Order: sequence, then C-alpha cells, then structure tokens
Amino acid sequence: MARYTGPVCRLCRRTSEKLMLKGERCLTPKCAVERQLSSMAGKNRNRRRGRPKKKSEYGIRLMEKQKTKNTYGILERQLRIYFRKAGKTPGLSGENLLRMLETRLDNVVYRLGFADSLRQARQLVRHGHFTLNGRKTDIPSCAVKPGDVIAWKENKAKLFPYQYAAQNIAGKQIPGWLSVDSSTLTAKVLAQPTREDIGGTINERLIVEYYSK
Ligand code: SF4
Repeated sequence: MARYTGPVCRLCRRTSEKLMLKGERCLTPKCAVERQLSSMAGKNRNRRRGRPKKKSEYGIRLMEKQKTKNTYGILERQLRIYFRKAGKTPGLSGENLLRMLETRLDNVVYRLGFADSLRQARQLVRHGHFTLNGRKTDIPSCAVKPGDVIAWKENKAKLFPYQYAAQNIAGKQIPGWLSVDSSTLTAKVLAQPTREDIGGTINERLIVEYYSK
C-alpha cells in the first residue's frame, strides 16, 4: 500500500484526537480537531444531532491500530513487522511495540525538538542532516539504543531547521530517556524508554488484540 500523502489533519479528524502531526499549528485554534470538537459541542447544545454511533469491539481496535500507524507515520506492513518482532522480544508485546516505534531515529529527532513535526524530522533524516555515533545516517527507521549519540552534521549550522531548533530548544520538554546539549545540539540516548516515558493516548492492549484476532 502506498504512503498516505493527503491532508494530515484528516487523519486526526477520523479519530477525533490530536495526533500532533503539523507542529506548531497543532497548538493553535486553527487545529482541525479543536474546530471539530467545538462545532460538535455547539451542535449538541442545539440538539441537532442524534446520539453518536456506538463502535463495535473490532472498530475500536481498528481505530487504535490506525491511530498508532498515523502517529508514527508508518505503513500497515511496517506496523505488522514491528508487531511480529515485538512478540518475539521478552516482555509485553504492546509495550515492546511502542518502544520500537519510539526509538526510531526520525521519532527521536522529533522528540529532541530538532524538528517541528515527525514529518519534518523524517525529511531531515532522509536528507542526511544527522549523524549517529559520528556516522552519517539517512535511515528514518534506524533504531537507537542507550549510549547512542545523535548530532547534526557539521556544515548544517546555516540551515533554517538547525537555527530554528537552536532558538527553541530551551523551551522544549525532552523525554527523560534522552538528553541534549543545547549549545551544540548534540543528543545522547540515556536509556530505553519505559511505558511512562512514551506517554500518549495509545492503548497498546487494543493493538495486541487487533493483531491477535
Ligand atoms: Fe492534527 Fe495538528 Fe491538524 Fe490538529 S493541526 S488536526 S493536531 S495535525
């Protein structure tokens, strides 16, 4: 199946949840989900709408799987492969799955505040703007591990994304399993992320149930 190239806000509207796919715009009143929710509240107040349709068990699991896929910007096939690997790894499959997705290089670059959105992070990685342990890496799915060092390539200081990241890094909330030196924009992976570190609204149990059907 081809990668989704349509409007990303539509992916959020389908789940009525903010997946934060558009960077700063997601924090403004222009957010499509914010507008959707406020218009629904208005309609409910005016009693123009009937009760929302109740979703089936399957529908709920499917929605959670879609939400995960869209949050991390991966394809169905990739998610299945991750799930299979997660099942073969010691521990809970659902948590293993989220940990694998969370430690993808593109996601780490986004979490570090080096990019405004996951899409931008992936593009920056693909264009070879980062090094992993001193070596150029342009594979967004590359998995990072404790001790790994992520840095911008030396000649990237003039790039707008670098300057933007340097200006805004101080205000970013960096997850506890990562650390970043704000003067050099060099980051280190301190540990594997725990379920608490990953946070978010994804219910991994539903994804396990979806794939175990
Ligand atoms: Fe989703 Fe962000 Fe669009 Fe809001 S602005 S609908 S959070 S992508």
